[in-house]
Amino acid sequence: MRCRMCGQRAVIRLRSHNIALCEGCLQEFIRRRVKKAIKDYRLLQPGERPLVAVSGGKDSLSVWDLLGELGFEAGGLYIHLGIGDYSDRSEEAARRFAEARGLELRVERVADHFSGLGIPELARLDRRPPCSICGMVKRYLMNKAAYEGGRVLVTGHNLDDEVATLFGNVLDWKEGYLSRQAPRLPAAPGLAPRTKPLVLCTEREMAAYAISRGIDYILEECPFSRGATSLFYKDLWNQLEERSPGAKLRFYQNFLRVRHLFREEEPRLQPCQSCGFPTTTELCNFCRLRDRAKGKKGNPP
Ligand code: SF4
Ligand SMILES: [Zn+2]
Ligand SMILES: [Zn+2]
Repeated sequence: MRCRMCGQRAVIRLRSHNIALCEGCLQEFIRRRVKKAIKDYRLLQPGERPLVAVSGGKDSLSVWDLLGELGFEAGGLYIHLGIGDYSDRSEEAARRFAEARGLELRVERVADHFSGLGIPELARLDRRPPCSICGMVKRYLMNKAAYEGGRVLVTGHNLDDEVATLFGNVLDWKEGYLSRQAPRLPAAPGLAPRTKPLVLCTEREMAAYAISRGIDYILEECPFSRGATSLFYKDLWNQLEERSPGAKLRFYQNFLRVRHLFREEEPRLQPCQSCGFPTTTELCNFCRLRDRAKGKKGNPP
């Protein structure tokens, strides 16, 4: 199998684009896909400074790498969730990546905000699934860091992630979620803009990119992700893609064309009485959980 661009030995075949590529041309192909997403969906404006939320996995480290390659001055944010060895190992991967490239990495520890408790303990305390607590806490800390630093928040969601989320939302016709699923969400009072530059790249393409760039990412998944519905949807979509190459891309891009049809009244937001970030209630969920956690691990209430 030969590379369609340069004729050297190809390392990957992309059926959805009907091409085979060598390592070097694959990297160039991914750079072009990211540039296209940035241009078509206006993900980053000139002069905007990105803050990449990194988990230590292939997608977030690769998007950080790509933004640097494309000339953006991007910093990183790692959130240590307090999920045993998994969190320690993923922090290590993020640190190794940043140090090797001389990039600025900010580390936030969930335990520092919640009286020493991490996500598993907070989930038990609040009697909610760990992913629901984790999602809320991560969204809050990512937004806070980006907003206070005057940055655009960048996440490493790839096409497979977006398709799985979209599929779940379509199954239940969740209009509100559909209206808010976009490659860029604009800034609002107390909210930093958020963008996803990898929306036109599949998981498989990103894994090949990370390996070809020698990115030392963590392969291990979060222990709480086992059995997640999103993984089941991804599996279904891989079967669909096998039968009909390009199905993921068509599903996602065609959705973006009709997204304006989905509307839901914006919730009325007000500043949280404790931290000042936007919320629908007097105290935001983050501050409420922080208050509940006080005194739970030997700290005075
Ligand atoms: S799978 Fe792990 S990292 Fe992902 S939301 Fe759930 S607890 Fe958080
Ligand atoms: Zn080539
Ligand atoms: Zn608050």
